Amino acid sequence: MASHIVGYPRMGPKRELKFALESFWDKKSSAEDLKKVAADLRSSIWKQMSGAGIKYIPSNTFSYYDQVLDTTSMLGAVPPRYNWTGGEIGYDTYFSMARGNASVPAMEMTKWFDTNYHFIVPELGPDVKFSYASHKAVDEFKEAKALGVDTVPVLIGPVSYLLLSKPAKGVEKTFSLLSLLPKIIPIYKEVISELKAAGASWIQFDEPTLVLDLDSQQLQAFTAAYADLESTLSGLNVLIETYFADLTSEAYKTLIGLKGVTAYGLDLVRGTQTTDLVKKDFPKGKYLFAGVVDGRNIWANDLASSLSTLQALEAVVGKDKLVVSTSCSLLHTAVDLVNETKLDDEIKSWLAFAAQKVVEVNALAKALAGQKDEAFFSSNAAAQASRKSSPRVTNAAVQKAADALKGSDHRRATNVSARLDAQQKKLNLPILPTTTIGSFPQTVELRRVRREFKANKISEDDYVKAIKEEIKKVVNLQEELDIDVLVHGEPEASILQRNDMVEYFGEQLSGFAFTVNGWVQSYGSRCVKPPIIYGDVSRPKAMTVFWSSTAQSMTKRPMKGMLTGPVTILNWSFVRNDQPRFETCYQIALAIKDEVEDLEKAGINVIQIDEAALREGLPLRKSEHAFYLKWAVHSFRITNCGVKDTTQIHTHMCYSNFNDIIHSIIDMDADVITIENSRSDEKLLSVFREGVKYGAGIGPGVYDIHSPRIPSTEEIADRINKMLAVLETNILWVNPDCGLKTRKYEEVKPALNNMVAAAKQLRTKL
Ligand code: GLN
Ligand code: ZN
Repeated sequence: MASHIVGYPRMGPKRELKFALESFWDKKSSAEDLKKVAADLRSSIWKQMSGAGIKYIPSNTFSYYDQVLDTTSMLGAVPPRYNWTGGEIGYDTYFSMARGNASVPAMEMTKWFDTNYHFIVPELGPDVKFSYASHKAVDEFKEAKALGVDTVPVLIGPVSYLLLSKPAKGVEKTFSLLSLLPKIIPIYKEVISELKAAGASWIQFDEPTLVLDLDSQQLQAFTAAYADLESTLSGLNVLIETYFADLTSEAYKTLIGLKGVTAYGLDLVRGTQTTDLVKKDFPKGKYLFAGVVDGRNIWANDLASSLSTLQALEAVVGKDKLVVSTSCSLLHTAVDLVNETKLDDEIKSWLAFAAQKVVEVNALAKALAGQKDEAFFSSNAAAQASRKSSPRVTNAAVQKAADALKGSDHRRATNVSARLDAQQKKLNLPILPTTTIGSFPQTVELRRVRREFKANKISEDDYVKAIKEEIKKVVNLQEELDIDVLVHGEPEASILQRNDMVEYFGEQLSGFAFTVNGWVQSYGSRCVKPPIIYGDVSRPKAMTVFWSSTAQSMTKRPMKGMLTGPVTILNWSFVRNDQPRFETCYQIALAIKDEVEDLEKAGINVIQIDEAALREGLPLRKSEHAFYLKWAVHSFRITNCGVKDTTQIHTHMCYSNFNDIIHSIIDMDADVITIENSRSDEKLLSVFREGVKYGAGIGPGVYDIHSPRIPSTEEIADRINKMLAVLETNILWVNPDCGLKTRKYEEVKPALNNMVAAAKQLRTKL
């Protein structure tokens, strides 16, 4: 009876680690306090898994910040600017790399594959002196052992580590990261030897990069690395864990050919072709760790269906060689359903968070071994059936409308340049019009009002009054600053979470549910709480019309209506798994379309539909990009295909690496796009320099809102001039990189003042 968990959330069921970290960083508690919270969390997780009957329990999947940074520490690959002097890496150096310190900024952070988790990117050059500088993997193994739990220590594999790194400054173009393999392998050997000495019998190497599009040289690196490790690994059972997608047949061939390896972990949820690969060819005598329980979503497993998949696989790989596992680390799902007090029992019966998934894995393993827990399986079957037939899930009218969208195309009838002319007649804007992205700073007062309203301490009337006053303040300020297209500041929506623009809309749409503690780590101590889309999506009533028209009534200048786009709502939610993602996206698009049209009817002439997360939804494999971009861009166009030529549709996107999808962005056919630009050395502008034609309005951010620094008028004018060198004067907009909700008024006022001054200065010269 064999069950395995790839990895487990570290934050704790009530984000205990987050609060312990932040209190330690604020110097409100000691290192000892932090260590104690961390040790308690690890111990409860190990005991929970062993109590549930899991055979292969992971260790070293805990982290104070990030598992890739832990590997950087293990290898002693600290960039020189942190002045680390050797020895075991302590909190100071570790958290300086993660978060920066008074004199040195943090290392770069980037998305972990296509998840919402962010890792700290190793910076490696030819001069790095590797040394064994963090014994965390061995310490955690021993710690678990002392608690009576025999674990499988988990390391990020050497090849994935290098492939996820970036070349250090100065050698960006010339350096081959894989050339470092012979230098890091000796450190891995030291770690492996210590683990063996400590009594480990299994070891797990996470090599998720094996699912990417790799060339033969990269694949060859896996072969070389494990051949080199073979003698050190002898005596251990070695699991190579892959996840997040199918392997190409070349990658699969490489994987099953690796020397010294006894087991392969495969993601059977995202990897839809993987079972076929296994059935065609699986090495005799090796173990298959079959990831059938989804680590990236919150749905209860369909146990009957998983069991039949597992039985078919067992027939191929042999009895006792099949281990039931999760599709990837449970890091990417919520922690424990037990703490959900507000979800009703019906919806709860459809869900499984990390703690419940552990139980599912074990139940499947038992069933496979002939000890099926009939009661557990039948209640699971009942929940699956109720989810399929519940009237809360299905809305025939919505399904019909979304079906009708498939295979057809939706775009505005008039081309963009004619539309811009019509809009200009109505809006009468100066050249280089100025605007902002939507949110304004969150004051203490505003937070108090929202908190008290949520806690029923103030009446709805008082709440509305307070929000209106806030909007009035923001409108007056923008008029004083002489901004051309105004925003209402989003005081009703922003609560400093990355995805509150999603939560705000989800709360008003049918088909969404919300958790109280369904947090998922995003980076470091930061977590997000994605809404759950469980049913067909519809919009019972207008969501933003009241606020936008209230704001418009306060000014003669155009007021932008502010919406979150369908792709972003989809990508920042837990999405239903009983229909394709694009179908859910089309449904959301139709709901947003209703809102857009109601805003237009209410006299809002400029409407911004944010698609901050469109880029990050791009699938891992290039072969899947075109399909995703097609339905994502189509969904966006559906939202506004019905508006008049004179209604100006804006969109906004965060992050700057758009160059590969610029044609899809153009195909969104928005009238104006505002886009992050200032942190990226004008990477964005290079596309236009290279000749891509852009005819719609475009506002590449003129200053970085992530920093408290106030940009000068000259600096902004300089930026705009650089843009004017590659873009037509009449399409350029002047705006910051993103919303202003994380900034203070002391920063925002002078910054916007300088921004408007720069625009005005340039207008006189053009
Ligand atoms: N309109 C949103 C804001 O200004 C956009 C947020 C985002 O891009 N993530 O806050
Ligand atoms: Zn943004």
